[in-house]
Amino acid sequence: MSVWIYPGSFDPITLGHENIIARGAKLCDTLYVAVLENHSKHPTFTTDEKIELIKECTSHMPNVVVECFSGLLADYAKQKDADAILRGIRNTGDYEYEHNMSQLNKKLNSNIETVFVCAEPELACISSSSVKEIAKLGGDFSWMVNKNIYNKLKDYINRRK
Ligand code: ADP
Repeated sequence: MSVWIYPGSFDPITLGHENIIARGAKLCDTLYVAVLENHSKHPTFTTDEKIELIKECTSHMPNVVVECFSGLLADYAKQKDADAILRGIRNTGDYEYEHNMSQLNKKLNSNIETVFVCAEPELACISSSSVKEIAKLGGDFSWMVNKNIYNKLKDYINRRK
């Protein structure tokens, strides 16, 4: 049984994230989508809201489990007896950051590998922060997020402006 973890802030989940989840879920038995509870960042969405949105987008993928975690990813991976951490690479900036993180995680938990999946070219420019920025400024972000959650996100963002 292979267990992989896809960690991130997911503030909120985008079509870029969803694409990595769908491709990763085909490669392992169980994929944990793990929402980092990071108290030093100031997220737009609460952890519960993020989890709810991710669950909505992944409900058709039976081997995907959505959870939150805090503390070191390497420790969470040990707790789950995970084989790999899944990360998406959009550009060389992501690669440099992720390469360093994978080495740190390997030092902290020698059993864990990091698997990098390259972003689909048409989704590579999408980030959670650009979704929020465009939504706040009234632009069209319907091509960046799942259409099931587009209206919900619009609503959340308008309320929190
Ligand atoms: P962070 O952990 O930096 O807050 P995110 O939660 O935004 O990152 O993203 C989690 C993972 O998803 C990271 O590996 C990130 O590179 C990847 N990712 C984010 N957006 C995309 C995208 N549009 N296409 C592919 N991968 C992405």
